[in-house]
Amino acid sequence: MKLGIVGLPNVGKSTLFNAITNAGAQSANYPFCTIEPNVGVVAVPDKRLDVLADMYHPEKYTPAVIEFVDIAGLVRGASKGEGLGNKFLANIREVDAVVHVVRCFENDDIVHVDGSVDPKRDIETINLELIFSDLEMLERRIDKAKKLAKGDKSYLAEAEFLTRVAAELEEGRPARSVACTPEEAEILSSVALLTNKPVIYAANLSENDFKGDLSDNPHYAAVEEIAKAENAEVLPICAEIEAEISGMEPEEKALFLSDMGLSDSGLDRLIRKSYHLLGLISYLTAGPQEVRAWTITNGTKAPQAAGKIHTDFERGFIRAEIVSYDDLVACGSMTAAKEKGLVRSEGKEYVMHDGDVVLFRFNV
Ligand code: GDP
Repeated sequence: MKLGIVGLPNVGKSTLFNAITNAGAQSANYPFCTIEPNVGVVAVPDKRLDVLADMYHPEKYTPAVIEFVDIAGLVRGASKGEGLGNKFLANIREVDAVVHVVRCFENDDIVHVDGSVDPKRDIETINLELIFSDLEMLERRIDKAKKLAKGDKSYLAEAEFLTRVAAELEEGRPARSVACTPEEAEILSSVALLTNKPVIYAANLSENDFKGDLSDNPHYAAVEEIAKAENAEVLPICAEIEAEISGMEPEEKALFLSDMGLSDSGLDRLIRKSYHLLGLISYLTAGPQEVRAWTITNGTKAPQAAGKIHTDFERGFIRAEIVSYDDLVACGSMTAAKEKGLVRSEGKEYVMHDGDVVLFRFNV
């Protein structure tokens, strides 16, 4: 899964991105490959893997990972293709979801490109660039649908629907806020619009505001209101705190967070929210060689889940032997779980659950 970090200059993107890269580097015993400088990879925190590792003492411990792409430089005028504008838009096109960092902290020493802290205006500035780009894309698709409709009337509905979406965009509303039927949603996702990507607004607060009562914070309230109108998520965060804790050892970090009255880091909350937003779950594989988490979309069936490990597993899928994580841990071992009849044999139609511990059987 790939998340793109966007936002105006001086809102805290690099601070957050550096915290992410640091956190990734801290977990360097994972087999992460080094990629481009604007990509950071972090492990998806999953305590279940630790428990399984205690059970199996595996040679390898492999958590699920999320890639964060720092898409800096998105400014007013980007959609007109000035400078590097188009490159940023292309970067956004490639991600599964967008983390839009919004400045909610006041600090006269840190210049704001538009002179003042105003989350609503900032969000609109960025969204407008994405909307301009989407409108161009939509116009081409509407023209095409209209031409096709001359031969095949079924394209009329598509042209009409996309015209309605274009009208919403003209009003400054992102495509994700348009109410659609399932058929319409399918058409919309085939157009691959930037403003149809799921979004998490990361409201970057000062340390004091972050620790204080958010219901009193007008900047945070402004972000929340926009998110609500667009079916987006909001995450209160303090990028500076993230930067501070990202280099700490786990024990030190836990102590620091509990001193602040927090149970987990902003990064962990961001990862959890992303999972939720994208409808993702994890299944697990466990044995003496490796304990590992695999990311799938909620609703994925067993053969496709097996395909995540290897395409051969999907092609030659016979069945999956599955025990729920809770049952396995309660029994203490796979053998004990089998004796109690808790290891099920599931076929091609089985829909995977979060926390399924799986062994796939397949033909090669
Ligand atoms: P970017 O241009 O969006 O990448 O912004 P930066 O991450 O470079 O941040 C710009 C400035 O804002 C830096 O001096 C940061 O230290 C500062 N900054 C970032 N996050 C926070 C925050 O949560 N609170 C405060 N007070 N300052 C922050």
